[in-house]
Amino acid sequence: MRILVTGGAGFIGSHFARCLLDGRYAGLENCHVTVVDKLTYASNRDNLPPAHPRLSMIVGDVCDSRLLSEVVPGHDAVVHFAAESHVDRSVDDPARFFETNVIGTQRLLDQCVRAAVGRVVHVSTDEVYGSIPTGSWTEECPLEANSPYAASKAASDCVARAYWRTYRLDLSITRCANNYGPFQHIEKVVPRFVTSLLTGREITLHGDGSAIREWLHVDDHCRAVALVLGKGRAGEVYNIGGDTEMTNRSLAQAILALHGSGWDRVRYVADRKVQDRRYSLDYRKIQNELGFAPQIPFSEGLADTFRWYRENPAWWAGTLDEVDPFCLDEVVMEPVAG
Ligand code: NAD
Repeated sequence: MRILVTGGAGFIGSHFARCLLDGRYAGLENCHVTVVDKLTYASNRDNLPPAHPRLSMIVGDVCDSRLLSEVVPGHDAVVHFAAESHVDRSVDDPARFFETNVIGTQRLLDQCVRAAVGRVVHVSTDEVYGSIPTGSWTEECPLEANSPYAASKAASDCVARAYWRTYRLDLSITRCANNYGPFQHIEKVVPRFVTSLLTGREITLHGDGSAIREWLHVDDHCRAVALVLGKGRAGEVYNIGGDTEMTNRSLAQAILALHGSGWDRVRYVADRKVQDRRYSLDYRKIQNELGFAPQIPFSEGLADTFRWYRENPAWWAGTLDEVDPFCLDEVVMEPVAG
């Protein structure tokens, strides 16, 4: 079995690739993994083993049809993680998001059809649904994306559906809640809060911090993607939720407690141009059909994630200049305990 993982040097794709290489998914223990990744600022080559007998690493762009026409043939399955993924950057530079997330998906799926790839999972996000004041989204809810990032992902979901419907590509779509865990770029909220505290800075909260997000550990997300890859039905969408909803204020509070700091380390900043109030997924379909259940309690996963950033400053210190410039004053690295 040969599996192509796009975006496999990013946060979630690399976790998925490492799990495949570690033989953690039943039926895929000996698969060969090909990673195609453009190695943008969001990636890190060190997220993957430097060498592994079952890993091939190809540096390339999912918008590059010529490259894909050479790489895709011979693969039994494709799991498509590659994307521009940061909402704030999508507000400043939407074109790049539509290029990679929409055109890249179309070019990749085109090559999957040509190469008669047997199975494809398109990895998407709950943000395509917009914002929900009460209740939870099922897979039938309309797509009401609000940010350019979410719109580009919603468009890519439509592209994916069209490739299933028109060309009979055996493809499923997953829509997951916010992920957290090790190896996530520090521009994203959990590692940003953690590394802000570890470098002697304040946590910056958008608006009044009352926006609500649903959280799932990256390991649970990747296990769900593996289930969908193995047993998901073609043409179906699967929500992947975590039941852990909290305001950004509560998230800040939890991370402050792990650091042993108080609310004086919090600074409120202007709200995002687009700020969805609440995300919440109904994920009974993947529970009932594929037997998925999250396994990592949020408090445990968050504590492990905090520890990982504390113990691996070399992984993230070099990316401090890639986050919001207003966060960068008075950076003082905190010594690693022990
Ligand atoms: P990430 O930004 O950490 O990683 C994206 C990877 O894609 C990077 O390695 C980057 O180099 C690569 N990439 C970007 N443009 C590319 C291109 N044109 N060609 C080839 N590679 C390219 O993102 P992530 O958080 O790991 O997200 C992975 C996927 O999961 C995305 O599709 C995202 O929409 C989806 N998702 C993310 C979350 C989350 O909370 N992070 C939640 C739900 C869904």
